[in-house]
Amino acid sequence: MGYNVKAFCFQDSPRRAHSIAAQGGVNAAKNYQNDGDSVYRLFYDTIKGGDYRAREANVHRLAEVSGNIIDQCVAQGVPFAREYGGMLDNRSFGGTQVQRTLYAAGQTGQQLLLGAYSALSRQIGLGRIKMYNRHEMLDLVKVDGKARGIIARNLITGEIERHSAHAVIIASGGYGNVYFLSTNAMGSNVTAAWKVHKRGALFSNPCFVQIHPTCIPVHGVNQSKLTLMSESLRNSGRIWVPKKKEDAEAIRAGKLKPTQLKEEDRDYFLERRYPAFGNLVPRDVASRAAKERCDEGFGIEANDTNEGVYLDFSTEIQNKGRQAAYAQGNHNPSAEEVTRLGKKWLEEKYGNLFAMYEKITDENPYETPMKIYPAVHYTMGGVWVDYNLQSTIPGCFVAGEANFSDHGANRLGASALMQGLADGYFVLPYTVSNYLADEIRTGKIATDSPEFVEAENSVKEAINKFIGNNGTKSVDHFHKRLGLIMWNKVGMARNEKGLKEAIAEIAALKDEFYKDVYVPGSADELNPELEKALRVADFMDLGQLMAMDALQRNESCGGHFREEYQDAEGETLRDDDNFSFVSAWEYMGYDISKEMLHKEELKYEFIKIAARNYK
Ligand SMILES: Cc1cc2nc3c(=O)[nH]c(=O)nc-3n(C[C@H](O)[C@H](O)[C@H](O)COP(=O)(O)OP(=O)(O)OC[C@H]3O[C@@H](n4cnc5c(N)ncnc54)[C@H](O)[C@@H]3O)c2cc1C
Repeated sequence: MGYNVKAFCFQDSPRRAHSIAAQGGVNAAKNYQNDGDSVYRLFYDTIKGGDYRAREANVHRLAEVSGNIIDQCVAQGVPFAREYGGMLDNRSFGGTQVQRTLYAAGQTGQQLLLGAYSALSRQIGLGRIKMYNRHEMLDLVKVDGKARGIIARNLITGEIERHSAHAVIIASGGYGNVYFLSTNAMGSNVTAAWKVHKRGALFSNPCFVQIHPTCIPVHGVNQSKLTLMSESLRNSGRIWVPKKKEDAEAIRAGKLKPTQLKEEDRDYFLERRYPAFGNLVPRDVASRAAKERCDEGFGIEANDTNEGVYLDFSTEIQNKGRQAAYAQGNHNPSAEEVTRLGKKWLEEKYGNLFAMYEKITDENPYETPMKIYPAVHYTMGGVWVDYNLQSTIPGCFVAGEANFSDHGANRLGASALMQGLADGYFVLPYTVSNYLADEIRTGKIATDSPEFVEAENSVKEAINKFIGNNGTKSVDHFHKRLGLIMWNKVGMARNEKGLKEAIAEIAALKDEFYKDVYVPGSADELNPELEKALRVADFMDLGQLMAMDALQRNESCGGHFREEYQDAEGETLRDDDNFSFVSAWEYMGYDISKEMLHKEELKYEFIKIAARNYK
């Protein structure tokens, strides 16, 4: 578009952004399957999936541009999966009854990222973009109330740098790692978004967190990462636990194998509770249903908490195997032939996911059901933005998972990539240009102004405090403790008592962290512990705000499940009269409990709001 851009990422290449981990796919209302999909239907599914807590206009725009995203990516060379005839293939994700998810095996994010990276590289080659790898943004600089640049740390040399600009775009991803254990990349953090918040941008719906139902269960206290098994697997896998507690106990004790359990002794609890959507209910619904079974003692995992359920592909192996045999003209295939062909079909669709599962668990999911359990995965909350994706700081725009914009209280599968790409390819090019039209003639922004000096000094102060702290405990020690509070009290189920405890415990932990954290090494070298300390400091603040946000929202909606607000069947109970708003918090200083709550009322003109029903 003719602008000169500086781009920053903390990895050694933007190719390593967390997005590379996205597996299952990206949604678009293409209606290639002729199954009744439309822009309105994608719009409706997304609003309903978010439990009527998303801004209607943004979501409609998202649905409108969804098809263009696919065309753009295909033009960039993204190798989406195709059907035999050459058309782009589709599959289903949760919360929808159409097939609108386009995919590239189980590596959709990687392929989309490589497409974007190729386009980026071209602009770097043309001299339009200067790329700063291994640079971490540690503060936003405001001049006359407008975003005019950033302070970044060169992570190799430790040098603190000033960079000015006419506008700043934050696209720094989600904050799921506040829980320590999540499916996010280890480096994902909230720092860029939080610095912007500290400089005056409102932070919205921080308590809206997505817990994904199909992750490999936790195995021990020393684990530092959780692995997702893509939602696409719920197209083919059936989720169950034993019907009898004694069978669950026998399985946990290793005395019974899941494959030995007869069909009538299995409880396909999603199919039982939600016959219309079955295994493809939205993530929050599936996660809570799994938790409910495990809380009742039917969990099958032999870990400390027995938390695990099965994701079983045996029915699909038989169905697809029989279909494949017929397609080959064999109308009377043997049982072995059906099984062989069914496994081959699964391998073609999900081979890399099955291989990943086997490597991690040493169990073969073609032969025995996968074990899965919900884990922290995605954050719907983020920096508040208007329709133009501009935060409350003029000139500071926020895109992708870092903003709060489109998913309400629960994001539907394959909609994060859609939103991030819509923001980057089809919204910001217009809205940033519109903003710059009045700004660009100001000429180059100087970096020797008092505002840059102040911002640089505050970054240096924070760094020096950690380096000279002489504490006794590692950064991870504090991060793990924070994560435990978050998971137990601000996790899949929340209540008033737990949230109040969490707020007090996190505030105390934060004080202890600043007094007693030990950061080895110095500031002017590669220092991953220092990087972590700076990020965990922001997680402490954020964690407390998440608990405060969850406490004020006296209702259950989407991923925010307050135990006090549920119906007779354990489903979320919204309170539209009092909570049909986006919460938007204003930073008021070190003491997070002083943050001020603002409310953006949600109005629905084109969708009739109703209780969410997937039965
Ligand atoms: C395991 C997994 C699988 C998923 N699968 C899917 C899927 O199939 N479909 C789907 O739609 N969604 C999926 N999601 C969600 C989706 O991947 C994310 O929401 C999305 O990739 C986020 O993209 P982003 O560009 O906003 O952030 P990211 O990809 O996290 O990129 C953030 C960038 O910001 C940079 N950055 C951050 N902070 C700083 C800083 N302070 N200074 C400098 N640079 C910084 C990073 O270096 C990075 O380049 C999945 C998520 C997970 C965890």
